[in-house]
Amino acid sequence: MTTIIDGKEIAERIRADVSNCANRLTDEGVTPGLATVLMSDDGASETYVSMKQRACEETGIEGIHEELDSDRPAEALFDRIDDLNEDPTVHGILVQMPVPNHVDSRAVLERIDPMKDVDGFHPENVGRLVAGNPRFKPCTPHGVQKLLAAAGVDTEGKDAVVVGRSDIVGKPMANLLIQKAAGGNATTTVCHSHTDDLTEKLRRSDIVVAAAGVPEMITGDMISEGSVVIDVGVNRIDADSEKGYELVGDVDFKSAKERASAITPVPGGVGPMTIAMLMYNTVKAASLQSGVEVNL
Ligand code: NDP
Repeated sequence: MTTIIDGKEIAERIRADVSNCANRLTDEGVTPGLATVLMSDDGASETYVSMKQRACEETGIEGIHEELDSDRPAEALFDRIDDLNEDPTVHGILVQMPVPNHVDSRAVLERIDPMKDVDGFHPENVGRLVAGNPRFKPCTPHGVQKLLAAAGVDTEGKDAVVVGRSDIVGKPMANLLIQKAAGGNATTTVCHSHTDDLTEKLRRSDIVVAAAGVPEMITGDMISEGSVVIDVGVNRIDADSEKGYELVGDVDFKSAKERASAITPVPGGVGPMTIAMLMYNTVKAASLQSGVEVNL
C-alpha cells in the first residue's frame, strides 16, 4: 500500500502549533508581524501574497501589506524595505518575487535585515544554512523536511536525489538533506538540466525530491520500488475543465504511485507546507527579536 502524504493535514497541525506560539508572544506584548511587499502586476504573485496574508490572519500574526507600482524606480522599493527594517512591529519581511526587470532581485534580498528575512534568502542566512547553523530555513525545503518527518521517513543514511538546483528550492533542499542533524544525514545527489542519465540517479535513490518545474517528467519506471517521492513542482497544463487548466506536479502521480512507498499529491502536498513554514519563520523571528522564548 502506498502512503499518500497529506500535506494539508500536516500543514494544519504545524499552523496550530505556530498559532499557539503567536498567541503566547502576543500575551507577552509582542504580536508577530509579517510585511509582504508586492511590486508586480502578475496575477499569480497577487494570489500568493493574498494567501500569505490570509494565513497571517488565521495564525494570529499581524499582516501588513504594501504595494508599489511596477514602474516605480528600484530606490522606491529599497526605501520601503529600509522603513520596514526599522519598524519594531514588523518581525518578518517578504518581497514577493519576481520583481520587475529594472530591479536587481539580489540587491532586494540583501537589503532586507537578515533578522527579518523570513524567506531565508539573504546571503547571511544562506551562509548559516550551508554552515550547518540555520536561522531561517527556506520555507519550501523546510516544509519538505517536515513532511518527511511527519510521514515517518528517516533520512539518515538514505540515498536522496533532488531534481533542481534553484536558490529557493533545490540548493537549500540539498543542504538540509546533507546536514549533520535530524532530517539530514542523507547521501544526496543534485540533478539539473545538464545531468546525464537522470533515470540512473533516480533509480538508485530511496528519496526523490522533484523541483524542476517540468510537468510530469518523472514517471514510475524512472524511480526505484519503495522509494519516497516528494513532488514540489506546480505546473499548469491545459485541461478540459471549467478553468481551462489543471495543476500537476513534476511527477506523473499515477505511475509513480504504483512503485513508491509514499508520495505527495499535487495539489495538497508540498504547497500548503510552504505557507505554514512562512508563518513558522515569522513567529521565530518575533521570538528572536523580542527574546521571548517559544516552543517551536
Ligand atoms: P527553477 O525554474 O528556478 O529551477 C528549476 C530547476 O530544475 C533548475 O535547476 C533546472 O536546471 C532544473 N531542471 C529543469 N528541467 C530539468 C530536467 N529536464 N531535468 C533535470 N533538471 C531540470 O524552479 P524553482 O526551483 O523555483 O521551482 C521548481 C518547481 O517547484 C516549479 O514547478 C515551481 O512552481 C514549484 N514550486 C513550488 C512551491 C510550492 O510551494 N509547492 C514553491 C516553489 C516552487 P538548470 O539549473 O540547469 O536550469
